[in-house]
Amino acid sequence: MKPIQMTTPLVEMDGDEMTRILWKMIKEELILPFVDLKSEYYDLGLPERDRTDDQVTVDAANACRKYGVGVKCATITPNVQRMSEYHLKKMWKSPNGTIRSMLDGTVFRAPIIIDSIKPVVKTWKKPITIARHAYGDVYKAVDIRTDEPGTAELVFTGKSGKVIRETIQEMDGPGVLQGMHNLDGSIRSFAHACFQYAIDTKQDVWFSTKDTIAKKYDGLFKEIFAEVFTEYQARFEELGITYFYTLIDDAVARVIRSEGGYIWACKNYDGDVMSDMVSTAFGSLAMMTSVLVSPDGIYEYEAAHGTVTRHYYKYLEGEETSTNPMATIFAWSGAMKKRGELDGLPELVKFGEELENASLETLQDGIMTKDLVGLAEGVKAQSVNSAQFIAAIRERLARRLGA
Ligand code: NAP
Ligand code: MG
Repeated sequence: MKPIQMTTPLVEMDGDEMTRILWKMIKEELILPFVDLKSEYYDLGLPERDRTDDQVTVDAANACRKYGVGVKCATITPNVQRMSEYHLKKMWKSPNGTIRSMLDGTVFRAPIIIDSIKPVVKTWKKPITIARHAYGDVYKAVDIRTDEPGTAELVFTGKSGKVIRETIQEMDGPGVLQGMHNLDGSIRSFAHACFQYAIDTKQDVWFSTKDTIAKKYDGLFKEIFAEVFTEYQARFEELGITYFYTLIDDAVARVIRSEGGYIWACKNYDGDVMSDMVSTAFGSLAMMTSVLVSPDGIYEYEAAHGTVTRHYYKYLEGEETSTNPMATIFAWSGAMKKRGELDGLPELVKFGEELENASLETLQDGIMTKDLVGLAEGVKAQSVNSAQFIAAIRERLARRLGA
Protein backbone atom coordinates (compact mmCIF):
# COMPACT_ATOMS: atom_id res chain seq x y z
CA MET A 1 0.00 0.00 0.00
CA LYS A 2 1.22 3.50 -0.85
CA PRO A 3 1.28 5.70 2.27
CA ILE A 4 -1.59 8.21 2.44
CA GLN A 5 -0.42 11.72 1.65
CA MET A 6 -1.06 14.88 3.64
CA THR A 7 -0.76 18.47 2.48
CA THR A 8 -1.03 20.69 5.57
CA PRO A 9 0.78 19.77 8.78
CA LEU A 10 -1.07 18.63 11.84
CA VAL A 11 -0.01 20.23 15.13
CA GLU A 12 1.21 17.37 17.28
CA MET A 13 1.47 18.00 21.01
CA ASP A 14 3.21 15.31 23.01
CA GLY A 15 2.59 14.91 26.71
CA ASP A 16 3.45 13.08 29.90
CA GLU A 17 3.65 9.77 31.74
CA MET A 18 1.62 6.77 30.57
CA THR A 19 -0.12 8.65 27.80
CA ARG A 20 3.30 9.69 26.41
CA ILE A 21 4.19 5.98 26.21
CA LEU A 22 0.86 5.24 24.47
CA TRP A 23 1.40 8.22 22.14
CA LYS A 24 4.63 6.74 20.79
CA MET A 25 3.03 3.29 20.37
CA ILE A 26 0.03 4.72 18.53
CA LYS A 27 2.23 6.73 16.18
CA GLU A 28 4.56 3.87 15.43
CA GLU A 29 1.95 1.14 15.05
CA LEU A 30 -1.18 2.86 13.80
CA ILE A 31 -0.15 6.06 12.01
CA LEU A 32 3.34 5.94 10.50
CA PRO A 33 2.93 2.58 8.68
CA PHE A 34 -0.07 3.96 6.77
CA VAL A 35 0.26 7.74 6.53
CA ASP A 36 3.07 9.91 5.29
CA LEU A 37 2.61 12.00 8.43
CA LYS A 38 3.15 15.71 8.14
CA SER A 39 3.17 17.18 11.61
CA GLU A 40 4.64 20.10 13.44
CA TYR A 41 5.79 18.58 16.71
CA TYR A 42 5.61 20.33 20.08
CA ASP A 43 6.79 18.58 23.19
CA LEU A 44 4.39 19.63 25.96
CA GLY A 45 5.92 17.09 28.34
CA LEU A 46 6.54 18.79 31.70
CA PRO A 47 10.40 18.82 31.44
CA GLU A 48 10.25 20.71 28.14
CA ARG A 49 7.59 23.12 29.43
CA ASP A 50 9.87 23.84 32.38
CA ARG A 51 12.97 24.22 30.19
CA THR A 52 11.22 26.72 27.88
CA ASP A 53 9.42 28.60 30.68
CA ASP A 54 6.19 27.25 29.17
CA GLN A 55 6.88 29.04 25.87
CA VAL A 56 6.41 25.72 24.08
CA THR A 57 2.73 25.67 25.12
CA VAL A 58 2.19 29.16 23.73
CA ASP A 59 4.01 28.18 20.51
CA ALA A 60 1.84 25.08 20.16
CA ALA A 61 -1.35 27.12 20.59
CA ASN A 62 -0.15 29.59 17.96
CA ALA A 63 0.61 26.71 15.62
CA CYS A 64 -2.96 25.45 16.12
CA ARG A 65 -4.15 28.88 15.15
CA LYS A 66 -1.95 28.81 12.04
CA TYR A 67 -2.79 25.31 10.81
CA GLY A 68 -6.29 24.86 12.23
CA VAL A 69 -6.01 21.28 13.52
CA GLY A 70 -4.09 19.85 16.45
CA VAL A 71 -3.87 16.61 18.37
CA LYS A 72 -2.76 16.66 22.00
CA CYS A 73 -1.53 14.04 24.44
CA ALA A 74 -2.56 14.34 28.10
CA THR A 75 -0.20 16.49 30.16
CA ILE A 76 0.56 16.97 33.84
CA THR A 77 -0.86 20.07 35.48
CA PRO A 78 1.78 20.73 38.11
CA ASN A 79 0.93 20.85 41.80
CA VAL A 80 3.14 21.05 44.89
CA GLN A 81 4.13 17.40 44.65
CA ARG A 82 5.08 17.72 40.96
CA MET A 83 7.29 20.71 41.80
CA SER A 84 9.69 18.47 43.70
CA GLU A 85 9.17 15.39 41.52
CA TYR A 86 10.26 17.31 38.39
CA HIS A 87 12.43 19.99 40.10
CA LEU A 88 10.34 22.69 38.45
CA LYS A 89 11.26 26.36 38.27
CA LYS A 90 7.63 27.34 38.70
CA MET A 91 4.18 25.82 39.13
CA TRP A 92 3.28 26.16 35.44
CA LYS A 93 -0.35 26.61 34.54
CA SER A 94 -2.45 23.87 32.98
CA PRO A 95 -1.51 23.63 29.27
CA ASN A 96 -5.16 22.95 28.46
CA GLY A 97 -6.15 26.15 30.24
CA THR A 98 -3.51 28.14 28.34
CA ILE A 99 -4.51 26.70 24.96
CA ARG A 100 -8.22 27.13 25.71
CA SER A 101 -7.86 30.77 26.61
CA MET A 102 -5.59 31.51 23.63
CA LEU A 103 -8.05 29.90 21.21
CA ASP A 104 -11.16 31.12 23.09
CA GLY A 105 -12.48 27.60 22.64
CA THR A 106 -15.31 25.43 23.86
CA VAL A 107 -14.66 21.84 24.93
CA PHE A 108 -16.91 19.08 23.57
CA ARG A 109 -16.75 15.72 25.30
CA ALA A 110 -18.31 12.62 23.76
CA PRO A 111 -18.16 8.96 24.76
CA ILE A 112 -17.04 6.20 22.39
CA ILE A 113 -19.80 3.62 22.61
CA ILE A 114 -19.80 -0.09 21.74
CA ASP A 115 -22.57 -2.71 21.84
CA SER A 116 -21.01 -4.82 24.57
CA ILE A 117 -20.77 -2.00 27.09
CA LYS A 118 -24.25 -0.93 28.08
CA PRO A 119 -24.80 2.57 29.47
CA VAL A 120 -26.18 2.61 33.00
CA VAL A 121 -29.15 4.53 31.58
CA LYS A 122 -30.97 1.90 29.52
CA THR A 123 -32.60 4.29 27.05
CA TRP A 124 -29.27 5.79 25.89
CA LYS A 125 -28.43 4.42 22.43
CA LYS A 126 -26.28 7.21 20.99
CA PRO A 127 -23.55 9.36 22.49
CA ILE A 128 -24.42 12.51 24.42
CA THR A 129 -21.88 15.24 23.76
CA ILE A 130 -21.45 17.79 26.53
CA ALA A 131 -20.35 21.27 25.54
CA ARG A 132 -19.15 23.12 28.59
CA HIS A 133 -18.77 26.87 28.64
CA ALA A 134 -15.30 27.22 30.07
CA TYR A 135 -15.29 30.85 31.18
CA GLY A 136 -16.48 32.71 34.23
CA ASP A 137 -19.43 32.19 36.61
CA VAL A 138 -18.51 30.56 39.90
CA TYR A 139 -15.04 29.60 38.52
CA LYS A 140 -13.99 33.24 38.49
CA ALA A 141 -15.98 34.46 41.49
CA VAL A 142 -15.05 36.21 44.72
CA ASP A 143 -16.60 35.27 48.04
CA ILE A 144 -16.88 37.08 51.33
CA ARG A 145 -17.56 35.52 54.72
CA THR A 146 -19.22 38.08 56.95
CA ASP A 147 -19.27 38.02 60.75
CA GLU A 148 -21.99 40.49 61.65
CA PRO A 149 -25.32 41.89 60.41
CA GLY A 150 -25.09 44.42 57.57
CA THR A 151 -26.03 45.45 54.06
CA ALA A 152 -24.81 43.40 51.09
CA GLU A 153 -24.59 45.40 47.87
CA LEU A 154 -23.62 44.75 44.28
CA VAL A 155 -21.76 47.69 42.74
CA PHE A 156 -20.58 48.20 39.16
CA THR A 157 -18.39 51.19 38.27
CA GLY A 158 -18.32 51.79 34.53
CA LYS A 159 -15.36 53.13 32.57
CA SER A 160 -17.51 56.21 31.95
CA GLY A 161 -17.97 56.77 35.65
CA LYS A 162 -21.53 55.50 35.69
CA VAL A 163 -22.34 53.56 38.84
CA ILE A 164 -24.96 50.81 39.20
CA ARG A 165 -25.82 49.75 42.73
CA GLU A 166 -28.21 47.02 43.90
CA THR A 167 -28.95 45.83 47.39
CA ILE A 168 -28.47 42.08 47.57
CA GLN A 169 -29.73 41.61 51.10
CA GLU A 170 -30.14 43.34 54.45
CA MET A 171 -28.40 40.62 56.41
CA ASP A 172 -29.61 40.17 60.00
CA GLY A 173 -26.65 37.98 60.98
CA PRO A 174 -23.33 36.63 59.74
CA GLY A 175 -23.35 34.88 56.37
CA VAL A 176 -21.62 34.46 53.01
CA LEU A 177 -21.59 36.44 49.78
CA GLN A 178 -20.45 35.69 46.28
CA GLY A 179 -19.87 37.87 43.24
CA MET A 180 -19.52 36.36 39.79
CA HIS A 181 -19.62 37.52 36.20
CA ASN A 182 -19.63 36.58 32.56
CA LEU A 183 -19.05 38.48 29.32
CA ASP A 184 -21.23 38.87 26.22
CA GLY A 185 -18.19 38.09 24.05
CA SER A 186 -17.45 34.82 25.78
CA ILE A 187 -21.09 33.69 25.72
CA ARG A 188 -21.28 34.58 22.03
CA SER A 189 -18.14 32.56 21.24
CA PHE A 190 -19.61 29.65 23.16
CA ALA A 191 -22.82 29.82 21.13
CA HIS A 192 -20.92 29.97 17.82
CA ALA A 193 -18.76 26.98 18.78
CA CYS A 194 -21.85 24.94 19.73
CA PHE A 195 -23.77 25.67 16.52
CA GLN A 196 -20.70 25.10 14.34
CA TYR A 197 -19.95 21.81 16.02
CA ALA A 198 -23.60 20.77 15.59
CA ILE A 199 -23.36 21.41 11.85
CA ASP A 200 -20.06 19.52 11.70
CA THR A 201 -21.42 16.47 13.47
CA LYS A 202 -25.05 16.79 12.29
CA GLN A 203 -26.52 16.70 15.76
CA ASP A 204 -29.21 18.74 17.53
CA VAL A 205 -28.20 21.28 20.15
CA TRP A 206 -29.91 21.45 23.53
CA PHE A 207 -29.14 24.41 25.72
CA SER A 208 -30.27 24.83 29.28
CA THR A 209 -30.01 27.49 31.98
CA LYS A 210 -32.15 28.67 34.88
CA ASP A 211 -33.41 31.89 33.34
CA THR A 212 -36.70 31.80 35.25
CA ILE A 213 -34.68 32.46 38.44
CA ALA A 214 -31.57 34.26 37.18
CA LYS A 215 -33.60 36.48 34.88
CA LYS A 216 -30.82 38.83 33.83
CA TYR A 217 -27.81 36.53 34.19
CA ASP A 218 -29.08 33.33 32.63
CA GLY A 219 -31.52 35.39 30.59
CA LEU A 220 -28.53 36.90 28.78
CA PHE A 221 -27.22 33.43 27.89
CA LYS A 222 -30.61 32.48 26.49
CA GLU A 223 -30.88 35.74 24.55
CA ILE A 224 -27.40 35.55 23.02
CA PHE A 225 -27.89 31.92 21.99
CA ALA A 226 -31.19 32.80 20.30
CA GLU A 227 -29.57 35.73 18.52
CA VAL A 228 -26.51 33.77 17.34
CA PHE A 229 -28.74 30.92 16.20
CA THR A 230 -30.37 33.15 13.58
CA GLU A 231 -27.02 33.00 11.71
CA TYR A 232 -27.19 29.20 11.61
CA GLN A 233 -30.90 28.53 11.29
CA ALA A 234 -30.96 28.04 7.52
CA ARG A 235 -28.08 25.57 7.63
CA PHE A 236 -29.76 23.71 10.52
CA GLU A 237 -32.97 23.40 8.48
CA GLU A 238 -31.04 22.07 5.48
CA LEU A 239 -29.41 19.42 7.65
CA GLY A 240 -32.63 18.56 9.49
CA ILE A 241 -31.18 19.37 12.89
CA THR A 242 -32.72 21.56 15.58
CA TYR A 243 -31.85 23.98 18.36
CA PHE A 244 -33.82 23.44 21.53
CA TYR A 245 -33.78 25.62 24.64
CA THR A 246 -35.15 24.51 27.98
CA LEU A 247 -34.65 24.96 31.73
CA ILE A 248 -31.77 23.03 33.26
CA ASP A 249 -34.01 20.89 35.50
CA ASP A 250 -36.26 20.01 32.58
CA ALA A 251 -33.16 19.23 30.49
CA VAL A 252 -31.83 16.82 33.12
CA ALA A 253 -35.13 14.95 33.16
CA ARG A 254 -35.28 14.81 29.36
CA VAL A 255 -31.67 13.66 29.05
CA ILE A 256 -32.35 10.66 31.26
CA ARG A 257 -35.38 9.66 29.16
CA SER A 258 -33.67 10.35 25.81
CA GLU A 259 -31.88 8.09 23.33
CA GLY A 260 -28.89 10.42 23.17
CA GLY A 261 -27.42 11.65 19.92
CA TYR A 262 -27.30 15.42 20.58
CA ILE A 263 -25.04 18.14 21.95
CA TRP A 264 -25.98 19.36 25.38
CA ALA A 265 -24.61 22.89 25.83
CA CYS A 266 -24.10 23.66 29.51
CA LYS A 267 -23.07 26.66 31.53
CA ASN A 268 -19.72 26.24 33.25
CA TYR A 269 -20.90 24.65 36.51
CA ASP A 270 -23.61 22.50 34.90
CA GLY A 271 -21.05 21.23 32.38
CA ASP A 272 -18.55 20.39 35.10
CA VAL A 273 -21.09 18.32 37.02
CA MET A 274 -23.00 16.81 34.10
CA SER A 275 -19.93 15.72 32.13
CA ASP A 276 -18.81 13.49 35.00
CA MET A 277 -22.32 12.09 35.33
CA VAL A 278 -22.61 11.39 31.61
CA SER A 279 -19.12 9.89 31.23
CA THR A 280 -19.54 7.58 34.19
CA ALA A 281 -22.98 6.47 33.02
CA PHE A 282 -21.58 5.64 29.57
CA GLY A 283 -18.93 3.35 31.06
CA SER A 284 -15.40 4.62 31.44
CA LEU A 285 -13.31 7.78 31.42
CA ALA A 286 -10.87 5.92 29.18
CA MET A 287 -13.55 5.96 26.44
CA MET A 288 -14.26 9.68 26.57
CA THR A 289 -13.03 11.90 23.76
CA SER A 290 -12.59 15.62 23.90
CA VAL A 291 -12.25 18.33 21.28
CA LEU A 292 -11.64 22.04 21.74
CA VAL A 293 -13.39 24.09 19.06
CA SER A 294 -12.69 27.80 18.67
CA PRO A 295 -15.33 30.18 17.35
CA ASP A 296 -13.20 30.72 14.23
CA GLY A 297 -13.04 27.01 13.50
CA ILE A 298 -9.80 25.69 15.03
CA TYR A 299 -9.99 22.09 16.26
CA GLU A 300 -7.82 20.52 18.93
CA TYR A 301 -8.42 16.84 19.68
CA GLU A 302 -7.47 14.92 22.81
CA ALA A 303 -8.54 12.28 25.30
CA ALA A 304 -10.64 13.49 28.22
CA HIS A 305 -8.59 11.53 30.77
CA GLY A 306 -5.24 12.50 32.27
CA THR A 307 -1.77 10.98 32.11
CA VAL A 308 -2.80 7.85 34.09
CA THR A 309 -0.06 8.33 36.67
CA ARG A 310 -0.82 5.19 38.66
CA HIS A 311 -0.21 2.99 35.62
CA TYR A 312 2.97 4.92 34.72
CA TYR A 313 4.58 4.24 38.09
CA LYS A 314 3.89 0.55 37.56
CA TYR A 315 5.33 0.76 34.05
CA LEU A 316 8.49 2.36 35.45
CA GLU A 317 8.86 -0.61 37.80
CA GLY A 318 8.83 -2.87 34.77
CA GLU A 319 5.29 -4.12 35.36
CA GLU A 320 3.04 -4.85 32.43
CA THR A 321 0.30 -2.23 32.04
CA SER A 322 -3.10 -2.47 30.46
CA THR A 323 -3.87 1.21 29.89
CA ASN A 324 -6.68 1.89 27.46
CA PRO A 325 -5.50 3.89 24.41
CA MET A 326 -8.98 4.28 22.82
CA ALA A 327 -9.56 7.96 23.61
CA THR A 328 -6.03 8.87 22.47
CA ILE A 329 -6.47 6.87 19.24
CA PHE A 330 -9.75 8.69 18.61
CA ALA A 331 -7.97 12.01 19.15
CA TRP A 332 -5.65 11.05 16.29
CA SER A 333 -8.46 9.77 14.08
CA GLY A 334 -10.54 12.87 14.76
CA ALA A 335 -7.63 15.12 13.81
CA MET A 336 -6.88 13.10 10.65
CA LYS A 337 -10.53 13.23 9.57
CA LYS A 338 -10.71 16.98 10.15
CA ARG A 339 -7.39 17.60 8.35
CA GLY A 340 -8.60 15.49 5.43
CA GLU A 341 -11.92 17.31 5.33
CA LEU A 342 -10.33 20.76 5.37
CA ASP A 343 -7.69 19.86 2.78
CA GLY A 344 -10.01 17.89 0.49
CA LEU A 345 -8.20 14.58 1.06
CA PRO A 346 -10.85 11.82 1.09
CA GLU A 347 -8.20 9.15 1.62
CA LEU A 348 -7.10 10.79 4.84
CA VAL A 349 -10.73 11.02 6.00
CA LYS A 350 -11.16 7.35 5.18
CA PHE A 351 -8.00 6.51 7.10
CA GLY A 352 -9.42 8.23 10.20
CA GLU A 353 -12.70 6.34 9.83
CA GLU A 354 -11.00 2.99 9.35
CA LEU A 355 -8.74 3.61 12.33
CA GLU A 356 -11.91 4.09 14.41
CA ASN A 357 -13.61 1.07 12.85
CA ALA A 358 -10.57 -1.14 13.45
CA SER A 359 -10.44 -0.04 17.10
CA LEU A 360 -14.16 -0.69 17.60
CA GLU A 361 -13.89 -4.05 15.82
CA THR A 362 -11.09 -5.07 18.18
CA LEU A 363 -13.35 -4.35 21.16
CA GLN A 364 -16.32 -6.13 19.53
CA ASP A 365 -14.03 -9.15 19.13
CA GLY A 366 -13.62 -9.12 22.91
CA ILE A 367 -10.00 -7.98 22.89
CA MET A 368 -9.90 -5.32 25.61
CA THR A 369 -7.77 -3.54 28.14
CA LYS A 370 -8.37 -4.38 31.79
CA ASP A 371 -10.62 -1.39 32.56
CA LEU A 372 -13.25 -2.57 30.07
CA VAL A 373 -13.24 -6.31 30.70
CA GLY A 374 -15.42 -6.01 33.79
CA LEU A 375 -17.94 -3.80 31.98
CA ALA A 376 -18.45 -5.88 28.83
CA GLU A 377 -21.58 -7.99 28.42
CA GLY A 378 -22.40 -10.58 25.78
CA VAL A 379 -18.83 -11.11 24.53
CA LYS A 380 -16.08 -13.38 25.78
CA ALA A 381 -13.73 -10.64 26.85
CA GLN A 382 -10.02 -11.25 26.89
CA SER A 383 -7.81 -8.87 28.84
CA VAL A 384 -4.66 -7.77 27.02
CA ASN A 385 -1.91 -5.24 27.67
CA SER A 386 -1.70 -1.93 25.80
CA ALA A 387 0.86 -3.19 23.25
CA GLN A 388 -1.20 -6.31 22.45
CA PHE A 389 -4.35 -4.22 22.12
CA ILE A 390 -2.69 -1.81 19.70
CA ALA A 391 -1.20 -4.74 17.72
CA ALA A 392 -4.71 -6.23 17.36
CA ILE A 393 -5.98 -2.90 16.04
CA ARG A 394 -3.07 -2.64 13.61
CA GLU A 395 -3.88 -6.07 12.16
CA ARG A 396 -7.51 -5.06 11.55
CA LEU A 397 -6.58 -1.63 10.24
CA ALA A 398 -4.13 -3.10 7.72
CA ARG A 399 -6.81 -5.51 6.50
CA ARG A 400 -9.38 -2.72 6.18
CA LEU A 401 -6.97 -0.52 4.24
CA GLY A 402 -5.92 -3.42 2.03
CA ALA A 403 -2.33 -2.99 3.15
P1 NAP B 1 -6.30 10.17 35.10
O1 NAP B 1 -4.96 10.22 34.51
O2 NAP B 1 -7.43 10.41 34.19
O3 NAP B 1 -6.47 8.78 35.82
C1 NAP B 1 -7.38 8.51 36.86
C2 NAP B 1 -7.70 7.03 36.91
O4 NAP B 1 -8.67 6.73 35.91
C3 NAP B 1 -6.52 6.12 36.60
O5 NAP B 1 -5.73 5.88 37.72
C4 NAP B 1 -7.22 4.90 36.06
O6 NAP B 1 -7.84 4.13 37.09
C5 NAP B 1 -8.37 5.50 35.27
N1 NAP B 1 -8.00 5.78 33.87
C6 NAP B 1 -7.94 7.00 33.27
N2 NAP B 1 -7.59 6.87 32.00
C7 NAP B 1 -7.40 5.56 31.77
C8 NAP B 1 -7.03 4.79 30.62
N3 NAP B 1 -6.75 5.38 29.46
N4 NAP B 1 -6.94 3.43 30.75
C9 NAP B 1 -7.23 2.86 31.92
N5 NAP B 1 -7.60 3.52 33.03
C10 NAP B 1 -7.68 4.86 32.95
O7 NAP B 1 -6.43 11.26 36.27
P2 NAP B 1 -5.46 11.62 37.51
O8 NAP B 1 -4.75 10.39 37.98
O9 NAP B 1 -6.30 12.38 38.42
O10 NAP B 1 -4.40 12.62 36.89
C11 NAP B 1 -3.11 12.23 36.43
C12 NAP B 1 -2.40 13.43 35.81
O11 NAP B 1 -3.10 13.80 34.63
C13 NAP B 1 -2.37 14.67 36.69
O12 NAP B 1 -1.05 15.17 36.72
C14 NAP B 1 -3.30 15.66 36.02
O13 NAP B 1 -2.81 16.96 36.12
C15 NAP B 1 -3.28 15.20 34.58
N6 NAP B 1 -4.54 15.47 33.83
C16 NAP B 1 -4.39 15.91 32.57
C17 NAP B 1 -5.50 16.10 31.75
C18 NAP B 1 -5.29 16.58 30.36
O14 NAP B 1 -4.17 16.78 29.91
N7 NAP B 1 -6.34 16.74 29.59
C19 NAP B 1 -6.78 15.80 32.25
C20 NAP B 1 -6.91 15.33 33.55
C21 NAP B 1 -5.77 15.15 34.33
P3 NAP B 1 -7.10 2.87 37.84
O15 NAP B 1 -5.89 3.46 38.47
O16 NAP B 1 -8.15 2.47 38.81
O17 NAP B 1 -6.78 1.85 36.82
MG1 MG C 1 -15.91 17.80 37.10
